[in-house]
Amino acid sequence: MEFIPVNEPLLNGNEKKYLCECIDTGWISSEGPFVKEFEKKMSAAAGRKYGISVSNGTAALEVAVQALGIGEGDQVIMPTFTIISCAMAVTKLGAVPVLVDSDIHSWNMNVDEIEEKITPKTKAIMIVHLYGLPVDVDKILELAKKYDLKVIEDAAEMHGQTYHGKPCGSFGDISTFSFYPNKHITTGEGGMIMTDDEELAERCRMLRNLCFRQDVRYVHDEISDNYRFTNLQAAVGLAQLERLDEFVERKRAMGKYYTEQLRHLKGLILPIERTEYADNIYWVYGIVLEERVEADNRTMQKLLAEEGIGSRTFFWCMHEQPVYQQAGLFSGERYAQAEYLARKGFYIPSGLALTMEQMDRVVAGVEKVMERISIR
Ligand SMILES: *Cc1c(COP(=O)(O)O)cnc(C)c1O
Repeated sequence: MEFIPVNEPLLNGNEKKYLCECIDTGWISSEGPFVKEFEKKMSAAAGRKYGISVSNGTAALEVAVQALGIGEGDQVIMPTFTIISCAMAVTKLGAVPVLVDSDIHSWNMNVDEIEEKITPKTKAIMIVHLYGLPVDVDKILELAKKYDLKVIEDAAEMHGQTYHGKPCGSFGDISTFSFYPNKHITTGEGGMIMTDDEELAERCRMLRNLCFRQDVRYVHDEISDNYRFTNLQAAVGLAQLERLDEFVERKRAMGKYYTEQLRHLKGLILPIERTEYADNIYWVYGIVLEERVEADNRTMQKLLAEEGIGSRTFFWCMHEQPVYQQAGLFSGERYAQAEYLARKGFYIPSGLALTMEQMDRVVAGVEKVMERISIR
């Protein structure tokens, strides 16, 4: 029985052609011409003036947070239910993540709980759009204006998505993307920071490249990392970007198909197809087990694997991360909805290379597993 991996990217456009161009011309480093072209086209697609490519989405968040001048003791509001990259970008600088619970329906941060978390130390709010539906951005932008806060938008999972018709990645002071293979556009590894502020863009370019002094090379006033993005990655990215609309359409069709096929099963909460401000683009196809289902997501992952189906559990909350608990962060904090999603949520194969036959096998596998699990 062929194992169906949780994600396989689709690379059958111009990827090979552009990669060969890199090899033939010898341009493989970050100095190659595709890098700037990709930055320009990606940022244009997201409605931003400047795009600064980096080695991955985590690096993009780190550079973005640092570029905004966030540092020691500053507080940044973010969801507890997210990838650790968001929190790490803040804690690495000695700043403190202030956590917000999730909305159980959209799986995004509950925006109604943000205002009560604002203190004199709050410097920024980090918007993290999760699993295919955008956060209700307007409410956050309003708060940011009222309290004079910066806004970072993590749009890693939102290639091609819009909020009230405006591209995700175009909101707030600075936004970030990832090009990991499970995102709608991939470069293997890769990421990008975007902004409309020229000064901020220049600051990001410095931070991604060791903070070389502009007048004299190899002289540094500051420490930063090497997070450069290569011409090889940009070659793949350009080919992927040509197909963004097609990819989004395909993901939506896949999401709709899964929902149609799985709707009859008891005990499963399937993703919301649309909200008042966006249609789901199904970053991945997530499923949450109802409370009456005895199993948790780890059991689901194991049982699905026995059927030859790859799956992943949802993110693990920041306030429950051992590394932060050991550091004395978030002690005693509880976020019921986020904790529920972290224990009961998982996603099934949803890569762009997935075939109809494979989707049918995934559906049959989920059906079989649900028959084995008791529902109270
Ligand atoms: C994937 C992802 C990241 C991190 O991207 P990497 O390229 O894997 O470092 C950050 N935030 C969110 C919401 C993501 O989904």
